[in-house]
Amino acid sequence: MLALANQKGGVGKTTTAINLAAGLAERGLSVLLVDLDPQGNASTGLGVGYDARRQGTYALLMDDVAMADLAQDTEIPGLKIIAADTELAGAELELVMMDRREFRLRDAITRAASGFDVILIDCPPSLGLLTLNALVASDGVIVPLQCEFFALEGISQLVRTVDRVRRAFNSDLHVAGIVLTMYDRRNNLSELVAADARSFFGEQVMETLIPRNIRISEAQSHGRSVMAYDGRSSGAMAYQALADEVIARNGLKTPRKKKARA
Ligand code: ADP
Ligand code: MG
Repeated sequence: MLALANQKGGVGKTTTAINLAAGLAERGLSVLLVDLDPQGNASTGLGVGYDARRQGTYALLMDDVAMADLAQDTEIPGLKIIAADTELAGAELELVMMDRREFRLRDAITRAASGFDVILIDCPPSLGLLTLNALVASDGVIVPLQCEFFALEGISQLVRTVDRVRRAFNSDLHVAGIVLTMYDRRNNLSELVAADARSFFGEQVMETLIPRNIRISEAQSHGRSVMAYDGRSSGAMAYQALADEVIARNGLKTPRKKKARA
């Protein structure tokens, strides 16, 4: 289970959650995306608009509804989503009063014996109880980092939070990768941020660079993955490469491709 987290907004968490999930599903893995952001952009971005929302993450966290009853199909084979229901905005406060408040998501997922190969969690832009629930439930955190001024600011706070969660709640937790997003090769700043990130975080920085590409944001507004929207775009190719890198780094097993018989 992997959480997409960074307490900064607008850095590419949701975009990466959607397209990485789609890329992993294209490789034959069975994938669940959990939309843990009350804004619900991952749900909308996968075509589950407000009208199509049934019970979702709130019911999972607060009402002990079974995961299997909440996972909805998407247009992409192999990819299901637990959408952000409208009550999720209240969860951050309501969780404060609950028993095992940091463990609600982990408990819900452990109860389920889910049958998914990978679960991705799209976190809200904060380090509150929702994100904490994601970190306690996950094996790894993927941190999207936007290539712009001050990109690295705030990362140290996130890394400290990951360390704290590892010590207090979840000894498995580690940084599974930092993904540089909205990389613009015409802009020196992008290169500087990338170099800085690599010198600071070394191998934790993923090799795949996600370029700034208008097709990526267009796809989202159409409720589709960038691969489904424009498979030849630089964005689609980058997210496919990212899926391969995540598979390799996390030792995920993809089904063997069927060989054509002679
Ligand atoms: P977060 O979830 O971290 O708040 P988003 O994934 O929602 O960030 O991205 C913020 C905005 O930037 C969205 O409008 C999204 O469509 C756009 N965006 C994200 N990644 C790219 C990219 N690589 N190229 C172009 N636009 C992008
Ligand atoms: Mg988001």
